[in-house]
Amino acid sequence: MSEQEASDRSTTPAWSFRVAPSLHHLLTTPASRAALPFQPGAPQQLPDPVFPQHHGLLIADDSRLSKRRMDVDPYRRGWSAPLIYRVLRGWLFPYIKSRVLPGDFHPIIAYLFTEWKCNLDCQYCWAFDNRVKGMTEDTAKRSIDWLHSTSCRVLALMGGEPLLRPAFVHKVVYYAAKKGFWIYVPTNGRLMKPAVIDRLADAGMAVVNLAVDVVQEKPGLPKGFNAIRPFFEYLVRKQYKYGYIVFFNINICRNNLEDVRQLTEIAHDYGLITDYHINESPMIAETHFKHLDENSTFIRREDWPHVEETIDWLIDKNRGGYKMVNSIQRLGQMKDFIRGKLQEWNCRAGQNVVVIRVDGTLAPCFPMYSASYDWGTVENQRFDARQLGDMKKDCQPHCFSTLNHNLAFCYNDRRVIRWGIRQALRGFQGVSGSFDQNSED
Ligand code: SF4
Repeated sequence: MSEQEASDRSTTPAWSFRVAPSLHHLLTTPASRAALPFQPGAPQQLPDPVFPQHHGLLIADDSRLSKRRMDVDPYRRGWSAPLIYRVLRGWLFPYIKSRVLPGDFHPIIAYLFTEWKCNLDCQYCWAFDNRVKGMTEDTAKRSIDWLHSTSCRVLALMGGEPLLRPAFVHKVVYYAAKKGFWIYVPTNGRLMKPAVIDRLADAGMAVVNLAVDVVQEKPGLPKGFNAIRPFFEYLVRKQYKYGYIVFFNINICRNNLEDVRQLTEIAHDYGLITDYHINESPMIAETHFKHLDENSTFIRREDWPHVEETIDWLIDKNRGGYKMVNSIQRLGQMKDFIRGKLQEWNCRAGQNVVVIRVDGTLAPCFPMYSASYDWGTVENQRFDARQLGDMKKDCQPHCFSTLNHNLAFCYNDRRVIRWGIRQALRGFQGVSGSFDQNSED
């Protein structure tokens, strides 16, 4: 793809999707997918969570933890043996299994879309349709049970906005944690009330991905930090006693570049890691997406210099010790991506990553959520290495998935061993989620 095409694809209807027409046809034909098979008998139910399970934690005094942590290393915190074991059980053991077991499908992380509805409307986001009902308890339980029968032990809730049904999410987190999953909860924070935080933390939530794009809400970008500030203070303070992690997830758009810097500084002041995305238009046609033609967030050719300046600023901050999920190398690749120069990168979607839609059907990754291609359902996955390989030849150069890229990095033994040795020598204090070989983390 040329630079001109890279620019055009974000701003004109002609680039309503990013894969070749032949692949697009394959992915969207037939028009509907095979459904999760019906099971005889009553629908399955998730158990009612016990709350609180950890009464001592609920009432523990944490008033001193509320202050900003600028006087010391803002990122420094202690980890108990059970919390370290939780990370190893979630990530390391499944990874090792995926390297030694025969076969191609060994998921490490599963995205469970409990919702396809959202309470906000970010102009870049096509990942919600408020006409679609949320996941049922039957599908959620069968999904978790099926994942438990595989190597997977990282469960990422996903939406839409997963906290639209807090009682449902509490049940999912409680059940999955009892099964040994490391649980990731992404949210725009608007519904993350203290009572919800306490319940999810008590149930076993391991990480909160707090999506913020601007400090003060603006047209097209409603995920404003100021709108969630009271909940945010509570969320940050409680992480130290419950043992979960909070990080900021920031989407770099053409109209939030100053906010990206301010949010980075706010996260640093609070000792939070940051994760950056570069704004992407839909991978395939999203018929329900309302903002494809008129969009104030998509990055145009004339925005490249300002966007690149912001990325360079982030790279400087990363070098200066700000912890980011994105490595320096990966941040640099954002510049290649907007110019259409990204190369193939060994994507692991459909092998070590799986998406479970609200109806229990499967997709390899988030950009393919709306594809009607049949990759099977929970209890009956139908991923095929050859089909995935052919597809990725086309979609990889147009896809900037940080998670899949980090996983791709792990499927090279030499790099992983080198990374492990470097982190061990630093007492694992530098671990941020960034894995790239040129990371200076
Ligand atoms: S490169 Fe991987 S994550 Fe991206 S769209 Fe293709 S299969 Fe999905």
